[in-house]
Amino acid sequence: MPEAPKNSYPSDYSLDEMNKKKLEFIENVTSNPDEVQKKVLSEILLRNAHVEYLQRNGLNGHTDRESFKKTMPVITYEDIQADINRIANGDTSSILCSKPISEFLTSSGTSGGERKLMPTIEEELERRSLLYSLLMPVMSQFIPGLDKGKGMYFLFIKSEAKTPGGLVARPVLTSYYKSCHFKERPYDPYTNYTSPNETILCPDSYQSMYSQLLCGLCQNKEVLRVGAVFASGFIRAIRFLEKHWPLVVKDIRTGTIDSQITDPSVRDAVMKILKPNPKLADFIENECRKDCWQGIITRLWPNTKYVDVIVTGTMSQYIPILDYYSNGLPLVCTMYASSECYFGVNLNPLCKPSEVSYTLVPTMAYFEFLPVHRNNGVANSISMPKSLNEKERQELVDLVDVKLGQEYELVVTTYAGLYRYRVGDVLRVAGFKNKAPQFNFICRKNVVLSIDSDKTDEVELQNAVKNAVNHLVPFDAAVSEYTSYADTTTVPGHYVLYWELSLNGTTPIPPSVFEDCCLTIEESLNSVYRQGRVCDKSIGPLEIKIVEPGTFDKLMDYAISLGASINQYKTPRCVKFAPIIELLNSRVVSNYFSPKCPKWVAGHKQWSSNNNKATTRIEEMNGKAQTV
Ligand code: AMP
Repeated sequence: MPEAPKNSYPSDYSLDEMNKKKLEFIENVTSNPDEVQKKVLSEILLRNAHVEYLQRNGLNGHTDRESFKKTMPVITYEDIQADINRIANGDTSSILCSKPISEFLTSSGTSGGERKLMPTIEEELERRSLLYSLLMPVMSQFIPGLDKGKGMYFLFIKSEAKTPGGLVARPVLTSYYKSCHFKERPYDPYTNYTSPNETILCPDSYQSMYSQLLCGLCQNKEVLRVGAVFASGFIRAIRFLEKHWPLVVKDIRTGTIDSQITDPSVRDAVMKILKPNPKLADFIENECRKDCWQGIITRLWPNTKYVDVIVTGTMSQYIPILDYYSNGLPLVCTMYASSECYFGVNLNPLCKPSEVSYTLVPTMAYFEFLPVHRNNGVANSISMPKSLNEKERQELVDLVDVKLGQEYELVVTTYAGLYRYRVGDVLRVAGFKNKAPQFNFICRKNVVLSIDSDKTDEVELQNAVKNAVNHLVPFDAAVSEYTSYADTTTVPGHYVLYWELSLNGTTPIPPSVFEDCCLTIEESLNSVYRQGRVCDKSIGPLEIKIVEPGTFDKLMDYAISLGASINQYKTPRCVKFAPIIELLNSRVVSNYFSPKCPKWVAGHKQWSSNNNKATTRIEEMNGKAQTV
């Protein structure tokens, strides 16, 4: 197996040499991906031969692909939830993995309304670092000179909790930014950011955002690239600037930091960068004062070459607003990753967002692919059986056996102890780099609504609506039809539900009842949604729009005019197509917003109710939770 290049090199290495090594690594692993995958699988199975999960399933120490595929089930989170709970409750025996579980990564995917807990091990940090280290050598092939300036990236940590057994549970990026791989990274022109570590690691999101923007503006001429992880995060930063620029300008003019920034380590770090600069303050003030913020990125950071944010998947809804703010700079999606495992890189980063494909790096995990069968052009996902039968299991193919144009669901076996785990993403084969396939990200299975990292599926939405309509019962009213829409024209974006009512009673329904309906829906949605509302402030209040009677008939007529079959027509539970949204909006008779935030606490519901000690710890950490 080609040896992974070191993540840092001796200082006498030139940047060119470093880039060359990284690119050679990509050439090597994509030239013989099958061999690499075989080795990865046997390595994982060999070292974990004695773990309870593999023994329970009867793998009997086999490390070959055939035995593995014959014996091991293809699973979802629910299948291993009992094992995960044991680990969370303090069982340190080798249940899934022979190496100690170092922490849980809290996925934005949910199970039973709570974040999924992905076990991880210390060495996975190395794999993540490796993937990160490939990104800039790839980029530098297309845009030279990126080592001559800085990146302005808005990076944040999120709140964390402890499981009853004492393991930390936090998002994968929080884990990475707090690790020595990030904090103690040696000087590298490619990880030279305008944000000092202290500003990224500040748990208070207002202070973190403010100080990162302040530092980014102080060094505006040095900035060659800007970004955040997801598009939604970057837009949040620009909107924050729209609101707070007078304070930032004052700080730059005087060389002092606003008194709301109280974290001493943040203040110290910023003071090393901030110098009184009235000329720069005048320039920023002049730009920010203008009514039109089109092209604000290139105006304030004139040397920016591209915007580095993920705009594939649901984030594509933010492309128009990013184009507006950046005056059409390239939007670059560099990588594809998850809490379970980091997957791959985009080897053609300057391509259009609609053409982005990711090359899975075969050393990261063992990958398999379950063909997705479509029904009338619609992935038949909601009715997908939870566990696969024997025939379906045999349909899984290896990395090198995927077919161009075919869609697959990604299944991973990781070093940290997930075996044939269905990630929930649907990918389409777009081409090949050497012998390694490259995939378009198509969608996350079942997800209907998403604004930020929240992922709400149809069943959750249905249950939430069911709970809310109870408020209408005293008025002898019911919801006869509904659909939903992720409205990202507001910042932050918010969920909109279109309701058509059937009214039998004569008493008018007061607005407060519909507001209660909004809040009940929010209370019923998963914890990632509620965290976005309460803590991250990345999702705005949910809105219900009441539409005129007959609107959903019109919707059906419209769908049929576009070729839908009248027999098979079902009201879509989520709409994205602009003419349909226009049709719905043209028939709105009233609208209502959630009057307050739903409840949310860090950690898991079950920990709070089962374990007093755990509750205390969660509350303590929640007190420190951030509020971007
Ligand atoms: P999490 O486990 O919460 O980090 O979420 C991981 C999920 O985010 C993946 O399984 C994808 O659904 C989504 N995701 C990550 N990277 C990308 C990407 N580059 N494009 C589209 N979706 C992505």
